[in-house]
Amino acid sequence: DTIAVAGEFLTAMANTNMFTYEIAPVFTLMEEVTLQKLRNLIGWPNAGDGIFSPGGSISNLYAVLAARFASFPSVKFQGLYEAPRLIIFTSEQAHYSIKRAAIITGIGLDYVRLVRCNERGKMDSQHLIELINETIKMGHIPCMVCATGGTTVLGAFDPIEEISKICKCFGIWLHVDCAWGSGVLLSKKHRYLLNGIENADSVTWNPHKAMGVTLQCSVILFKNESVLENCNGLCADYLFQKDKHYDTSYDTGDKSIQCGRRNDVFKLWLM
Ligand code: PLP
Repeated sequence: DTIAVAGEFLTAMANTNMFTYEIAPVFTLMEEVTLQKLRNLIGWPNAGDGIFSPGGSISNLYAVLAARFASFPSVKFQGLYEAPRLIIFTSEQAHYSIKRAAIITGIGLDYVRLVRCNERGKMDSQHLIELINETIKMGHIPCMVCATGGTTVLGAFDPIEEISKICKCFGIWLHVDCAWGSGVLLSKKHRYLLNGIENADSVTWNPHKAMGVTLQCSVILFKNESVLENCNGLCADYLFQKDKHYDTSYDTGDKSIQCGRRNDVFKLWLM
């Protein structure tokens, strides 16, 4: 998209870091309004949290970190030493970054259960229920279901409405990886493919895929506020002092797993 290319050029000229409001006041506010706009499109009006990340794989990692923290907040301090086995469910057609996130977070590949798909690549929700029940019988904790909105190879949309009911019933975190398919939220005609997405706890959305924004532009969005800061925050006192001359809730850096962070919002905001 030519507007995004122009935005990229201006972004490079400004060469601004995004960790605090004082360093990037205008871009920080652009992030806030743009993330809210994306959340509105999901169906979370005027609420929630989110951050721009270097790509869908990292956005999915943020979701696994948040789901793991929601299952066992003590994980932030004790790691997995005190936690039971946590299980992630995703389809056999899901993007490999969910497995990679299981490696990074210490959940482990053997604890990612792959749900069968039909011949068009959609998750079989009956099989999901069977796997959840098996997991509970084994004394393990279902931590997250990752549904996909637009699978990488077949472009299939998992039945999110159905899956969200299952997650609600078992009290499991629902993540929707629509890195690729999220663009349908902008279409009156195709939006139905993501029906039920408003029931998710987190959503990966890559404007650098179907929306044609230049690389890199990905966001991870959360239904609830403060998830990111509670999960990742460390309050480094050389950077995130609470006695600055402005409302420090505008500082986004402590939500991030990075320190320095690129400005990926400007080109999307301009579009
Ligand atoms: N999720 C899905 C469904 C994808 O198709 C992809 C990439 O193709 C990713 C996540 C990873 O996104 P990225 O390449 O931005 O890390």
